[in-house]
Amino acid sequence: GEPSRGVYLDGLNPEQREAVEATDGPVLVLAGAGTGKTRVLTTRIAHILSLGLAWPSQILAVTFTNKAAREMKERIHAMVGEEVEGMPWLGTFHSIGVRMLRRHAELVGLKSGFTILDTDDQIRLLKQLLRAENIDEKRWPARLLANIIDGWKNRGLSPQQVPAGEGAAFANGRGQKLYTDYQARLKALNAVDFGDLLLEGIRLLRENPDVLADYHRRFRYILVDEYQDTNVAQYLWLRLLAQGSRNVCCVGDDDQSIYGWRGAEVDNILRFESDFPGAKVVRLERNYRSTGHILGAAAHLIAHNEGRLGKTLFSEGENGEKVTVTGAWDSQEEARAIGEEIEALQREGHALTQVAILVRASFQMREFEDRFVTLGLNYRVIGGPRFYERAEIRDALAYLRVIASPADDLAFERIVNVPKRGLGDAALRQIHDHARAAQLPLIEAARELVGSEELKPKVRLTLRDLVASFDRWREQMATLPHHELAEIVLDESGYTEMWQKDRSADAAGRLENLKELVRSMEPFENLIGFLEHISLVMDVDSGNGGDAVNIMTLHSAKGLEFDTVFLPGWEEGVFPNQRALDEQGRAGLEEERRLAYVGITRARRRAKVFFASNRRIHGLWQSAVPSRFLDELSEKDVEVTESRGGSGWGGGQGGGYAGRYGYGPSRFDQAETFGSSYSTPGWQRAQNAAKSGSGFSEGRSRYAASESARGGRIIE
Ligand code: ATP
Ligand code: MG
Repeated sequence: GEPSRGVYLDGLNPEQREAVEATDGPVLVLAGAGTGKTRVLTTRIAHILSLGLAWPSQILAVTFTNKAAREMKERIHAMVGEEVEGMPWLGTFHSIGVRMLRRHAELVGLKSGFTILDTDDQIRLLKQLLRAENIDEKRWPARLLANIIDGWKNRGLSPQQVPAGEGAAFANGRGQKLYTDYQARLKALNAVDFGDLLLEGIRLLRENPDVLADYHRRFRYILVDEYQDTNVAQYLWLRLLAQGSRNVCCVGDDDQSIYGWRGAEVDNILRFESDFPGAKVVRLERNYRSTGHILGAAAHLIAHNEGRLGKTLFSEGENGEKVTVTGAWDSQEEARAIGEEIEALQREGHALTQVAILVRASFQMREFEDRFVTLGLNYRVIGGPRFYERAEIRDALAYLRVIASPADDLAFERIVNVPKRGLGDAALRQIHDHARAAQLPLIEAARELVGSEELKPKVRLTLRDLVASFDRWREQMATLPHHELAEIVLDESGYTEMWQKDRSADAAGRLENLKELVRSMEPFENLIGFLEHISLVMDVDSGNGGDAVNIMTLHSAKGLEFDTVFLPGWEEGVFPNQRALDEQGRAGLEEERRLAYVGITRARRRAKVFFASNRRIHGLWQSAVPSRFLDELSEKDVEVTESRGGSGWGGGQGGGYAGRYGYGPSRFDQAETFGSSYSTPGWQRAQNAAKSGSGFSEGRSRYAASESARGGRIIE
């Protein structure tokens, strides 16, 4: 049907409507989760189009992910119908940055067909530069330099703008020069990296007033979602463009700022008001997404942060189900319990697409993926690869595959020079040639070449060592438990070390994933059995398009909503994440808490928090301490449940414990205290915790004192 004019405004509340209709001048919408910020943006675009205030191409709208951009496009179409020709400039900062740069490449010294380097290319280039400068890569790894340069770019700093002294952070003060050289190399290659997409865009607009004026005329309306997570470069770029029409509308929530570690600055919200004086500030207070208990628990949690801008948030819907907190024995039981609950929801007729599992770190996904494959439950991983498809997991598996079946050439090829051991393309070509001529698997061809004079001496030695290592590992396969073997292989091959030395932001996560891989091997009888399982898991169609459970990190869940949200792994160290605490202290804790707030507020009707009492680390059971965030959920909104199935599950694992977290053998004493404390009412919990000296009583009493929610309306 054809929507009649203005219909899209129906159902908006007065504040939302105000934000939609205030098309002239700067507008800042500052509001809590689920209050309709994104809906306001979408409706605002529809409104502008349907009043004929601008052509689609005169609108610039920035979303945080490409997925969000696609969804927004669909909604706009649904609102204004197909008759509106063309589409707005709608995408992420990066995608819009590329589009703009392609149009004016020559002006920043590029050709229009420039390439965009990925991280690997970037590192390779930096390595070349380090080598040219005779800088010891062991002391000053390329990845560290890449981080430093990215940081500068996020802050909008060109090489000339890097503050004096900051270059000292790398190679005794050579950081800035290397940055200069790097940019020159990129130009010579007709290439840019990710950070350049905006940095060069800023330069383009600053150095070419006519181009800037052109964009000022073009973009009559600018809109930005998730504004709290913009970094300085994005902000500068935006400000340049918005100073034309000044019709700029940003929406955000300081409580959902979760990319501080990547250079996002909440202060951009404050800057907005000073850069755009007279900006209309709209506050939305009614949450349309979640039921009362969910909102109450989330609001109470986030109230523990200091330095908030402060907001009111209420829901007028029913209170609904309480947020459940469930303790499980370990992460495997946690996955079982969640699997059962999802199957129960499915039996009741709920769609799996309306179910999400939000994890803090990618390693947590493994347990769920394995479980769902066993259950035949469709799932899809959003915002990243599935666990077994991650690069580091594929590498590790490749080592194991060569051990289990030496003729696996693909696997051998994958890891022959990972980590780098000087077996480059030339060496590999020789191995290939010989393999083809002699009709041998690559590793056997390599063995024969080691005995001949054909290879360069250094290459020969390296290859000899590698072949010998594989021989040794294959022998050990017969004597060692396969998960121990895996650990040895990762160590002796230098693969673990490669990531330990890597100082990029994701290295720690990769090491966690590797540990998780080793952990996941234990239940299998032998290496072959494990690898068979992997090929089955990899073969499962990841539910593309069909009805499937969504698994993703809390970070990629921003802006999304689901009827049911599972939040596993609420344990100290996992969530809040230990590294965030170690590296960022109080600021790190507050960002973790905002992440928890984002997690809970994704739920429409059911939020289900889980923690495991035990985690297996390096093959040893360690008792886990329930997350402090559990105690920061308001008691009146929370129901503490026991994991389903009681003694029925867990019976087969862990060697004879009763299967419920409260009944572990005595060596799990501490875990028992925590575990059982979570099946008792709150005040007793506090006492138990106090008795066990865990320090949780402090959290409890603070909680009791600051309880301020009344009848579904939470005022902070
Ligand atoms: P977040 O902070 O999580 O990004 P948000 O503020 O962007 O949330 P939206 O995603 O726009 O919130 O809206 C949350 C939900 O509430 C959506 O399902 C949306 O359709 C619905 N909603 C928003 N405004 C209204 C309204 N006036 N009437 C009914 N439903 C609404
Ligand atoms: Mg939103």
